[in-house]
Amino acid sequence: MPTLTAPSAAIDSLPISAANATFIKRANKLLINGEWVASASGKTFPTYNPATGDVITRCAEGDKEDINRAVAAARAAFEKGPWKTMTASERGRIVWKIGDLMMQHADDLAELEALDNGKTRGVARHVDLPLSWDAFHYMAGWATKICGQTFPISVPYMPGSKFHAMSLREPVGVVGQIIPWNFPLLMAAWKFGPALAAGCTVVLKPAEQTPLTALRLGELMIEAGVPAGVVNIVTGYGETAGASLAAHDDVDKVAFTGSTEVGKLIVNAASGNLKKVSLELGGKSPNVIFKDSPNLENAINGAAGAVFFNHGQCCVAGTRLFAEKSIFDQVVDGIAERAKKIKLGFGLDQDTQMGPLVSEEQLARVTGYLDAGRRDGAEFVTGGVRHGDRGYFVEPTIMTNTKPHMSVVQEEIFGPVLVAEPFADEDDLIARANDSTYGLAAAVWTNDVSRAHRIAKAYRAGTVWVNCYNVFDSALPFGGYKQSGWGREMSGEALELYTESKAVIVAL
Ligand code: NAP
Ligand code: MG
Repeated sequence: MPTLTAPSAAIDSLPISAANATFIKRANKLLINGEWVASASGKTFPTYNPATGDVITRCAEGDKEDINRAVAAARAAFEKGPWKTMTASERGRIVWKIGDLMMQHADDLAELEALDNGKTRGVARHVDLPLSWDAFHYMAGWATKICGQTFPISVPYMPGSKFHAMSLREPVGVVGQIIPWNFPLLMAAWKFGPALAAGCTVVLKPAEQTPLTALRLGELMIEAGVPAGVVNIVTGYGETAGASLAAHDDVDKVAFTGSTEVGKLIVNAASGNLKKVSLELGGKSPNVIFKDSPNLENAINGAAGAVFFNHGQCCVAGTRLFAEKSIFDQVVDGIAERAKKIKLGFGLDQDTQMGPLVSEEQLARVTGYLDAGRRDGAEFVTGGVRHGDRGYFVEPTIMTNTKPHMSVVQEEIFGPVLVAEPFADEDDLIARANDSTYGLAAAVWTNDVSRAHRIAKAYRAGTVWVNCYNVFDSALPFGGYKQSGWGREMSGEALELYTESKAVIVAL
């Protein structure tokens, strides 16, 4: 494994493993063409522990020149070399091995993720990690199953002629991938897994807030046998490194997860060479509870989990609750009771149930929305304020008496903030639930099977949960309607993002 020289870092006092302490000291390089190198400018940027605001370490600040070098390496690795010539089975085995190495290093990876992002160690270890390694294992199987088709063509203007017609599915080429900070390792896995299974080469730019696990994953990928140049990781800022990657003329496709606002910038940047674009963007997901819900306690627990999981920093967070009028108070009181009991703290402390938001910027953004809700006349059932004066904590919050036009109802807050409204009946509900520029996810809790199907069909959203929430799997397509994105990640559908179809017609 490549060894990197250490920057100084006050990490000795953190409750982390010796392996992670050593890793953090070498996490100041970019992965380009199989080598760990400093940024061309020599610049670095800090990554923080969001529970305290302390700098964990400084990472290499890649920019346009580093992106150019990484894209050149990815292009060379795509055009020639072992990645192009190896069999699909060999490629699949390497992708599988990445998953295996993640399993082997799961405790350290989870700890690193919790430290850099602020989430709890338990969530990182038991949610992020299994989903991440499974994304590689699942996609490894696809490497040998990416097939074209044959077509019974007729060619009516060439009577009597005979042809054999087929399609080949080929890797799209050099892929730029830009990911956010809410599930850093999982987002890297969702991006790398299908791209590698399809035979593409990749330049990944992690979020500036959470670069550490992507760099560690880079080491594991090299250990798994990914050839030089096939994966390149350039840490740095979105406006420089990210923008250069999205605009680069020698990148064939860009895959982005993050805000809708930046998604639109990516589309514009991609127009220069008309590279393919896939986007997984924000959400403002409705979660609907009917009074005939099979078990109201489950629905209340589900609704609390839907909005408070990962501190509300989930693109699918169930942030708009609709409960039928007759049970509205009971549901809101039940969620509030659970919210008040959530123990906030450092993600690496054993008894912490909710960590801080990821950054000072997100703290300002979320508390800004709380102020806006207050100004607009919302009532706070619980929370509504920053928690403590150190780190970036916000109290789990529930607002009622909101109106459809309010910013807290319309816009993605990306914090532990719920708006709750009563509804009279199903007819009254659907238009309100769909009244959003987003369409990522939606849920309904009901015992009426016909109603469940009716509502699932009526929702304009990429995922619908019935009597459950936050159920993900590598085998399920994931993505958004409306301004929540373009394309579907995971499942066999993800391969469509990373392959081209070529029609081949042979005269017989
Ligand atoms: P963001 O700016 O969209 O960040 C996502 C990724 O895009 C990061 O890697 C970012 O780099 C990069 N980026 C930023 N500007 C870019 C540009 N001009 N060209 C190319 N890449 C660029 O999200 P954010 O500012 O961190 O968070 C703001 C809001 O976005 C949140 O409050 C939330 O509403 C939403 N969000 C949604 C998701 C999701 O999963 N759908 C995830 C995160 C955030 P840097 O990190 O270096 O800026
Ligand atoms: Mg950090």
